[in-house]
Amino acid sequence: MAELAPYAVSEANSRGRRRAEAAPNTRGEFQRDRDRIIHSGAFRRLEYKTQVFVNHEGDLFRTRLTHSIEVAQIARSIARCLHLNEDLVEAIALAHDLGHTPFGHAGQEALNACMKDYGGFEHNLQSLRVVDMLEERYAEFDGLNLCFETREGILKHCSAINAAKLGELGERFLHNRRPSLEAQIANLADEIAYNNHDVDDGLRSGLIELEQLAVVPLVATQLNEVRRAYPDLPERRAVHETVRRMINTLASDLIRQSERNISAQGLSAIEDVRSAPVMIAFSAEMNEQQRVLKNFLHTHLYRHYRVMRMSSKAQRIISDLFAVFMQDVRLLPPSFQRQTEQERARAVADYIAGMTDRYAIREHRRLFAVDEVLA
Ligand code: MG
Repeated sequence: MAELAPYAVSEANSRGRRRAEAAPNTRGEFQRDRDRIIHSGAFRRLEYKTQVFVNHEGDLFRTRLTHSIEVAQIARSIARCLHLNEDLVEAIALAHDLGHTPFGHAGQEALNACMKDYGGFEHNLQSLRVVDMLEERYAEFDGLNLCFETREGILKHCSAINAAKLGELGERFLHNRRPSLEAQIANLADEIAYNNHDVDDGLRSGLIELEQLAVVPLVATQLNEVRRAYPDLPERRAVHETVRRMINTLASDLIRQSERNISAQGLSAIEDVRSAPVMIAFSAEMNEQQRVLKNFLHTHLYRHYRVMRMSSKAQRIISDLFAVFMQDVRLLPPSFQRQTEQERARAVADYIAGMTDRYAIREHRRLFAVDEVLA
């Protein structure tokens, strides 16, 4: 790794793991975190979880897994340019969606509604639960025992009530302090990734048309340039070239603006990062352009009637499963059975959140389809 800036996270200034372990001898601590994430069961399941489109709708659409890999790629490029810790941003990016339910945001909303009397369900917190407790891969501890900075980056946001229960990890939400620059990068790399791949997937699915995107300056500017330079380019290829340029434009803007912010603030150590305002940011103009794109996607893609149909069905599956498991604990696999209502609710939420799209659909069929008596 190239030399790190003095305000980057490093092994020297890391707050370490919750449970002390011998230092790795062939790789760095944050590489080890990344490797543990890649070998986790929750990471493999991301392959079969919805981003926007239900996993089996089409083989070419993004899933949570390919989304996470794209986020890691964008985050690493930005971190390298800014002399920040590339291994750490990669670990955060690959882990950031581990706690997602099946069926994307529809699934998360449904599970949160089911859990409203039991402390709610939040996918960020769930990602942390996965790496801190739910993965069972090590003889000596539950979870993956990741470094503080990786866990801090996974917990993007958190309510004050939950933050108060999280000890040192929750402190920044209570005292208005910032996470590392690496965590800030992973957060915005997520945004760059999904805004762009949702344009690509939206067009590929036919739910949005290229002409509609003329009202979105971020897309229109790049598309017009591509059309001017390559008038005969087939549409699909023009879309790819446009999306590629959009990602580049956003990442370059982010790098430039963040460099400006960092030098204006005069950061010289990691402690400065925590007390400074957010440093990793787009320029005001790019923020505005992103806002227009997000609004467009909300109106025309995420609320498209065909997406709404998927979401409505997904919500029904999740709330049916939750209700039936709460009603009769004996229907759960033994390792998820709990006696008190509160504990049972959390275990059911863990069980459901861990499901892939198709597993949830199958499980629903097994429990509710009356012609499948041999389930
Ligand atoms: Mg994400």
